[in-house]
Amino acid sequence: MNLPFSQELAGCAGCPRRCGVNRLAGEKGFCRIGSDLPLVHAGLHFGEEPPISGNRGSGTIFFAGCNLRCIYCQNHQISQEFHRHPVLGLTPENLAGEMLRLETLGAHNINLVSPSHVVFQAADAIVAAREEGLSVPVVYNSNGYDSVDALRRIRGLVEIYLPDIKYSDDALGRELSGADDYAGTIPGVLGEMLDQAGPLTMNGEGIAVRGLLVRHLVLPGYLENSRKCLRLIADLSREIPVSIMSQYAPRYRAGNHPRIGRGLTEAEYAEITDFALDVGLENAFVQETESRDHYLPDFDRIRPFENGCRVVSRGQAGRDTAVRVDRDRQEDTGIVSHPSGRDAKKQTCKN
Ligand code: SF4
Repeated sequence: MNLPFSQELAGCAGCPRRCGVNRLAGEKGFCRIGSDLPLVHAGLHFGEEPPISGNRGSGTIFFAGCNLRCIYCQNHQISQEFHRHPVLGLTPENLAGEMLRLETLGAHNINLVSPSHVVFQAADAIVAAREEGLSVPVVYNSNGYDSVDALRRIRGLVEIYLPDIKYSDDALGRELSGADDYAGTIPGVLGEMLDQAGPLTMNGEGIAVRGLLVRHLVLPGYLENSRKCLRLIADLSREIPVSIMSQYAPRYRAGNHPRIGRGLTEAEYAEITDFALDVGLENAFVQETESRDHYLPDFDRIRPFENGCRVVSRGQAGRDTAVRVDRDRQEDTGIVSHPSGRDAKKQTCKN
């Protein structure tokens, strides 16, 4: 099989760390991942934003490893401690087969979770899957610490970009995620993704078909960081939908941190969701703060998301309403109008 993208691994600059190692020869860089695609979990997931999960689920593919070291990582079992979990080393051809299997199961899309450190192998897999008839959109669901050059290299292969924006301050990115240049990198990343795909667009059933949707996890005690992140998105384009996540929990190594060693308060979250409207971001997805445990996966289970997830929307009277989504169906998408008359805030669950 011809693997033109994977050849880039001979001197890896797949992400902003630009380690330069030869992964084809067995060398490993910061991400500690070689040339295989390290598959941890693949299955239908109903906990993403409604346009991504729909009613048939998103075909999520989770990879081991990461190019960040977030001290609060909710996926730390597979991003950092992956040596303690079963990981399948797949070829791009193998992964193409997984994509086709997920489409056969009914997935609305193929959702590559944390692909930044395997971007080139994943690109070869997408090409192979398309050649075999894959017809649903591909979602690039990343932490936002991506290489703009790599994104340009794979232009045309990804329909939906679903990146995080974590930090607007390099010192904070260094302290909490071990990346010196996250804040300096993310504007170019979002600009490239927007240029390739435009703002998120949906079909007549409300399922995403193309475009950019940005996620932001609100960290307790760092509201100014959140404000700057949202302002950055708004400056890029107010048409970009933003998913504002409240699911922060002091997991992994965050428990003793002086500021993020606690959960997010409802007041903090409300301040940030209101701020999103104030800066003109009119398409936002919101969560309820007390349900954060529903959003957190456990990769020690065969089904990391078997508890399903809880979703909410903000009603017209400003009161939250909650609906339960289980693995097989979504009872209510809860799409409502914001009391200000501006566009709807809707619900989201994050893997
Ligand atoms: S993908 Fe991994 S090896 Fe390549 S530059 Fe990034 S951290 Fe380094």
